Amino acid sequence: MKISEIIRREKPSLSFEVFPPKTGAAFQDVSAAATAIADLQPSYISVTYGAGGGTSRYTFDLAEALLKKGTTPLVHLSCIAATPQTIAAQLATLREMGVENILALRGDLPEGTKADALSYRYASDLTEEIRKFGGFCIGGACYPETHPESASGAADIESLKIKVEKGCEFLTTQMFFDNNILYNFIYRMYKAGLDIPVVAGIMPVTNPVQIKRICAISGTSLPQRFIRIVDRYGDNPAAMKQAGIAYATEQIIDLFANGINAVHVYSMNKPDVAKAIKDNLSEILK
Ligand code: FAD
Repeated sequence: MKISEIIRREKPSLSFEVFPPKTGAAFQDVSAAATAIADLQPSYISVTYGAGGGTSRYTFDLAEALLKKGTTPLVHLSCIAATPQTIAAQLATLREMGVENILALRGDLPEGTKADALSYRYASDLTEEIRKFGGFCIGGACYPETHPESASGAADIESLKIKVEKGCEFLTTQMFFDNNILYNFIYRMYKAGLDIPVVAGIMPVTNPVQIKRICAISGTSLPQRFIRIVDRYGDNPAAMKQAGIAYATEQIIDLFANGINAVHVYSMNKPDVAKAIKDNLSEILK
C-alpha cells in the first residue's frame, strides 16, 4: 500500500525502521530482527540505505523479506554516489519486486568525492527522477532543527518546497527530543506555504554514548530533562532502556494528542524496543 494513503487515514500510524548489515554474514540476524518487528504489525517498516550504496543489495533483500511477510516496506535510496544508469536499474528492480514506497535522499558526500563530479546534487534531483520513472509514492527527509548545511531554517524550508514540487508526497523528520521543536517547525512550514504530511521521527534512546555522538553530528539538541535522565541512568543499561522507552512513549502520546497522526520509530533493529513501545500504545493505536 502507498504510504501517502496509510498516513491520511484517521487511525494513527506507527512505523518502525531497520538498517541493513554491513556484511552478508550478519544478514540472517538482521533479517530475523526485521521479521520480528514485522510481527508487531506496524503501519510500515522503513529500510535504510548504506551511505555510498555499498550495501544496497541488503536493503533490497530486507525489503523483499518484509514484502513476503505482508508488511509494507519503505525503501530508502540515496543519490549522492549514483548515476542515472544505477538509479534506473534500481528503480526497475524495486518495481519488479513490488515495492511501492521510496524515501528519496541525497546521502552524505563520501570523503574525497568532488561535489562538481556528481550526477545528483540534491534529494530533489532524485525525487524528480523517481517521479519520471512513475508508479512510486515518494517521501523525503526534513530537519525540524534545520539541516546542518543550511544557511538558515527559512532556506531549509525553501529547499523542501523544491522537493515537494519535484514529487515528494510526505516528509519524515530527523529525530528530536523536544516536541515543541516539531510544532514550531510545522508552523514555520505552513507560514512559508508548505502543506505536506509530516511523519515525526522518534528515537528511543537505549545507548547514551551513541546518541550523544549522533546528536552532535546531526545538530539535534538534547533538552535538560533528557540529559538528566541520561546522567542518572546512562551507566545502567537496563534502567536506561526502560527510561528511553518511557521518554519516547511520552513524546509519541503528546504528538498524537496534538494532531500529529503519523510517528516513525527509529527502532534500530531492536524488536524488544519496538514491542515495548507498541505495547505502551496498545489502546491509543486502536
Ligand atoms: P537534501 O534534501 O538534498 O538536503 C541537503 C542540503 O541541501 C540541505 O541543507 C538542503 O536545505 C539543501 N538543499 C536541498 N535542495 C536544495 C536545492 N535545490 N538548492 C539548494 N539547496 C538545497 N542517509 C543515508 O545515507 N541513508 C539513509 O537511509 C538515510 N535515511 C535518512 C532518513 C531520514 C528520515 C533522515 C532525516 C535522514 C536520513 N539520512 C540517510 C541522512 C541524510 O542522507 C543526510 O542527512 C544528508 O545530509 C541529507 O540528505 P537529504 O535527503 O535531506 O538531502
